[in-house]
Amino acid sequence: MTNKKWDNIGPATKSVWAGEEQSFFEGAAQVPVVNSVSYSHDDVDEWLDVALGKKQGHIYSRNTNPTVKVFEEKMRVLEDAEAATSFSTGMAAISGILFALMSPGNRIVSVKDTYGGTSFVFMDHMPRFNVDVTMCDTHDQDQIEAETLKGCDLLYLETPTNPTMKVLELKRLIAAGKKVGAIVVVDNTFATPINQNPIALGADLVVHSATKFIGGHSDALGGVVCGSNELIDKIYGFREINGATLDANSAYLLLRGLKTLKLRIDQQNANALALASFLENHNKVDSVFYPGLENNPFHEIAKEQMNGFSGMLSFSLKGGFQSVRNFLPQIRFAHRAAHLGGVETIVGPPRTTSHVELTEEQRQQLGIPETLIRCSVGIEDINDIIADFDQALDSI
Ligand SMILES: *Cc1c(COP(=O)(O)O)cnc(C)c1O
Repeated sequence: MTNKKWDNIGPATKSVWAGEEQSFFEGAAQVPVVNSVSYSHDDVDEWLDVALGKKQGHIYSRNTNPTVKVFEEKMRVLEDAEAATSFSTGMAAISGILFALMSPGNRIVSVKDTYGGTSFVFMDHMPRFNVDVTMCDTHDQDQIEAETLKGCDLLYLETPTNPTMKVLELKRLIAAGKKVGAIVVVDNTFATPINQNPIALGADLVVHSATKFIGGHSDALGGVVCGSNELIDKIYGFREINGATLDANSAYLLLRGLKTLKLRIDQQNANALALASFLENHNKVDSVFYPGLENNPFHEIAKEQMNGFSGMLSFSLKGGFQSVRNFLPQIRFAHRAAHLGGVETIVGPPRTTSHVELTEEQRQQLGIPETLIRCSVGIEDINDIIADFDQALDSI
C-alpha cells in the first residue's frame, strides 16, 4: 500500500502517533477540538484552491474538519489503507458504502448473521432500489463462495459475527469476490485492526462501528471506512451530501480512546479466553461460543487469519429463559446493555436485544439458543470477572 512511512511500525505505536506527529494550533501537543462550522479564507485565490481540492484546507465542517481528519488518518494507518473517511455512526458508514456504490440491477452477496441494522438495509432498503441481496448461511462457506462465483457487484462480509462468533474464511471468500470483479467489504468491528487486517487479506473496504472497540469507552458514536483512494472518494462524495458527518467532539473522544487500543484489545483477548475456558467447564452452562477455544468449529480458521480471538463471546445457560432472569441481575461488574467494546464488561441476551423481533423459531434457525448471553469482556482483573460470573451462576 502507500504507507511506506509506517512500514515496520507496530500497531501500538501507530495507535498513539498516526496523525499526531506534528504539533497543532499554537503548538498544542494534543489534537484540538475544532468546533467551527466553517473556515475563513482571507485570500480569495487560496480559498478557490482549497474549494477545488488543489490545496489542503477546510471549507465547511460537514465536509471536512481538522479534528475529524486526525481520527481518519489514525484509522487509515491502523488498517494500512490508502484512504479513510468517517461517519456519525457505524450504520451511517455501512449504509453510506451501500448507497454510494450500488445501483439498480446490482447484486450483493452476504450472510444471515450480519449486524441487525445491516440486515435491515439488505432486506428492507436495497430491494427498493432494485438491488438484489442474497444472504447465505453464515457457517456455510461453500454456499457463500458459490453464490459469489455466480457473479455479484459487492460481497459484504462480517467476521466474527454477532452473537455466536462464527468466523468467515476471509482469504477464500475474498478471492471468490475478486474473481468476479466484486467490491469486497469487511465489517471489522468485532475484531479491530489489532486482531484482524482484512485489507492485507485482499479486501477492498474495511468498515467499523467506531462506537465499539475503536472508541472503547462507551461515550461516543462513530463510524469509519478505509480503502483505496478511488472507492473512498466515492463514499466521501456521498457522505458530504448525505450529511452523516462525525462530530469533532466525538472524533476527539474516539482519538483519545484509540491511543490505548492495543493495550485494551490485548487485555480483552486474554480475559475473554480465560472467561470462555471457565464457562466451558461450568455445570450450569450449556455451550460456549468463542473461536479461541480449541474445540470451537472455527478455531483453526480464526487462528490462521486473526492475531487474537477478540473480547467477544457468548454462552447459553442450562434451563429455560428463567435461568437468564435469575443470572443477569446477580452480575456485579457488568452493564446489562445492548452494546459492546467498552473497557467495562457488558452482558445482554440476544433474546431481548439484537434478536428481540424474531420468533423463537427464527432464532432457532439462526442457531441462537433462548438462553444465550452475549458478553463483551472488559479490561477488569480476570479473577474478579470469573468470581463474579461464578457467584451469579450459583443463583440459577
Ligand atoms: C454496532 C455495530 C454496527 C453499527 O454501529 P453503530 O455505531 O451502532 O451505528 C455495525 N456492525 C457491527 C458489527 C456492530 O457491532
